[in-house]
Amino acid sequence: MFYRLRGAAIVRLLVALLVLPPALSACSGPEAVNVYSARQEALIKPLLDRFSAETGIAVNLVTGDGDALLARLRNEGLNSPADLLLTSDAGNLYRAQQADLLQAVTSPALEAAVPVHLRSDEGFWFGLSLRARVLVYAPDRVDPGALSDYAALADPVWRQRICVRSSSNIYNQSMVAGMLATQGAEATEDWLEGFVANFARPPQGGDRDQIKAVASGQCDVALVNSYYLGGMLRSDNAEERAAAEQVRLFWPNQAGRGVHINISGAGVTRSAAHPEKARQLIEFLLREDSQQWYAEANNEYPVRPGIAPSTLLQSWGEFRADPLQVSELGRLNAAAVMAMDRANWK
Ligand code: FE
Repeated sequence: MFYRLRGAAIVRLLVALLVLPPALSACSGPEAVNVYSARQEALIKPLLDRFSAETGIAVNLVTGDGDALLARLRNEGLNSPADLLLTSDAGNLYRAQQADLLQAVTSPALEAAVPVHLRSDEGFWFGLSLRARVLVYAPDRVDPGALSDYAALADPVWRQRICVRSSSNIYNQSMVAGMLATQGAEATEDWLEGFVANFARPPQGGDRDQIKAVASGQCDVALVNSYYLGGMLRSDNAEERAAAEQVRLFWPNQAGRGVHINISGAGVTRSAAHPEKARQLIEFLLREDSQQWYAEANNEYPVRPGIAPSTLLQSWGEFRADPLQVSELGRLNAAAVMAMDRANWK
């Protein structure tokens, strides 16, 4: 059997094998867990290596764009070598479930670790980390006292002052889906009209570009996932750091339902040849120590309650998160896309 392991990983594996009880080490056969991951390799590989070192189960990682991986799973059908699908949005997990690409998993450990609204009720997928869609603003041009909820961003006082990326992005689609779920179609469409009218420029770039646009004065407020700000503040690139240091984070909706959140998460595929090992890997990723590492690697929040976020994230303060069942973000995705189109959100 051949495992692709570097020197340090081999040492860890040997150490793990030595300390493992014989019954467990006997299980460490040539089988591996095959993971299709929309998560960047650097944000997961070290944890997978640790899993392999502890269990003797090798992990083969295929990294790609979320939509592309979903299409690949669909094309491969039951012949897919994938055991586990890892995505960075609840919408993609929901889509995979709807397309019958995932299988239900029963695990008391997972049910205890993941709050009910951050996993599928039937066990098709489980949240692994929490991401919040927040506001960043220019402190020299915006009084944080003037900020409140997302709804207020439709007010004409923000005309030509808001930056946000395109409506083709799943983060925006999920946010609008969340609004549809909690406020209904009419209120959401009204909001969209006012919000889009306040754009400082046609949507372009990613969330980091919105933060840079606030820093450079192209707009005063931007809607972004908080980990992008964290990533820029911790960046090796001095320009990115400087831009991030010029803006401030604001937690919207704190007097209401709470900030819009999404998850990165994982589900065992329908085609899995190693469903037990795949479940074991999800359980490992939700263990307390893994949760800390996994969340910190991308400046996210652990889904598992009771685990402190990183020091940087603690400096942003505590926040109330919308308790909406995240599968709603997937269920209402198509309606959200149509509503954004009608409002001319490019
Ligand atoms: Fe992202």
